[in-house]
Amino acid sequence: MIDLADLLAASAQVSAAPGGRAPDAVAVGGLGDPGTVLLSGPGTGSGPESLDAHLDRWAGLPVLDGAQVLALLRAGGLDGRGGGGFPLARKVAAALASGGPPVLLVNASESEPASAKDATLCACRPHLVLDGAALVAAALGVDHVVVHLHRGAGAPVDGISRAVAERRGGGHDVVAWTVSLGPDRYVSGEASAIAGYVHDGDARPRFAMAPLAVEGPTGRPTVVVNAETVAQLGVMARIGPRAWAALGTGGSPGPRLLTVAGAVDRPGRVVELVGPGTVGDVLAGTGCTAAPAAVLVGGFAGTWLSGDEAWQAPYERSALACLGAGPGCGLLGVLPHGACALVETARIVGYLAGESAGQCGTCVAGLPRLASAMSSLADGTFRRRGLRRIETLGDELLGSGACAHPDGVVRLVRSTLEVFRDDVVRHLAGEQCRGADHPPVLPVPVPHPAGAGPRPQEHFS
Ligand code: SF4
Repeated sequence: MIDLADLLAASAQVSAAPGGRAPDAVAVGGLGDPGTVLLSGPGTGSGPESLDAHLDRWAGLPVLDGAQVLALLRAGGLDGRGGGGFPLARKVAAALASGGPPVLLVNASESEPASAKDATLCACRPHLVLDGAALVAAALGVDHVVVHLHRGAGAPVDGISRAVAERRGGGHDVVAWTVSLGPDRYVSGEASAIAGYVHDGDARPRFAMAPLAVEGPTGRPTVVVNAETVAQLGVMARIGPRAWAALGTGGSPGPRLLTVAGAVDRPGRVVELVGPGTVGDVLAGTGCTAAPAAVLVGGFAGTWLSGDEAWQAPYERSALACLGAGPGCGLLGVLPHGACALVETARIVGYLAGESAGQCGTCVAGLPRLASAMSSLADGTFRRRGLRRIETLGDELLGSGACAHPDGVVRLVRSTLEVFRDDVVRHLAGEQCRGADHPPVLPVPVPHPAGAGPRPQEHFS
């Protein structure tokens, strides 16, 4: 077992990380590119990295007891990378304080359709994910970890399953692994939906008085942790919390994975930002040479920023919060000049309305009405009085659901009305939309009919 003090001391050596860099340098790259950390190693197309190759590059995982892992998490300040940004140390501490035997679930289902960072990690660097999960298991004192994926197209089932088999075969871990496959639906990736699904096959979000980490659907404290979050822990345990934190900024410690979608050279490419970069640095690293018309930051339930504002914005939680945005699931959706944000938003809201889990009246009835209103606004058939209807619907929906799904839709709609005020005025006046003939930009799935969301008893496959 190593001494945490040694690990902290070793943190002074930032160059210990693959892609070692000076703390103030900025690097943006994809799989195998120089300067990357989580994505360092073999390039695109090389498949899941084997356990031997992973250990050759990273060496073995330090053996830490639960208290040491918790100290590591606190020292590094690792925030959740699935959307909420909740500090993992606090989640683990809440579960330990609740007294019951905890349940640990790794969320690798990535239900955000345009995001691919977790799938990329699980497909190409699965052992980094499992390393971090094994450390969280040590912190919680559990000997079983469930890795949850969806069973839709593109899910990295093969990468994770092979990695689990390799570790089982080599007796690599003291924990047992289960790979769970759930429905490929937007709200089924929500933490309480995953915890419920693994417990009883019902993949819908659940209303609860207590946080999951205190009491999950089994009555036991349940920690649901995102796949990138645990992979970050796998890195932190090797290079130390200070060195790991220095790969980000004071406000957003550690490196960050992003998916860049829309009008970029390779839509859907996953990149890693290392250092104190701006959104513009990330976009420049993916082939953009100038600020686009706008950027959707944080996912489909995220926030539009004008291209100029986004380009300058430091990509860190506190700086984005000042603009009303947040990293969310790490998506940057790039809207080119000439496309219409109202049309793109209407497509997203239409899709999200069909993803309601059908449990809460305001969500079931309100989201389709909001989607219809946004569609009318986009196609120019809306008149000024209708704008008030959108605002009223937003007020009604906010905070009305058992989960945050309607809140995210309202956030998206509100940012659209604010950032694209001039376009809204033009659409309301019946002027020809400048983007009417522009092809769709963001990868929005075909909507399910409203009310066709996930249903109870979608069993394991
Ligand atoms: S708020 Fe909507 S998506 Fe969330 S549980 Fe209720 S009906 Fe389902």
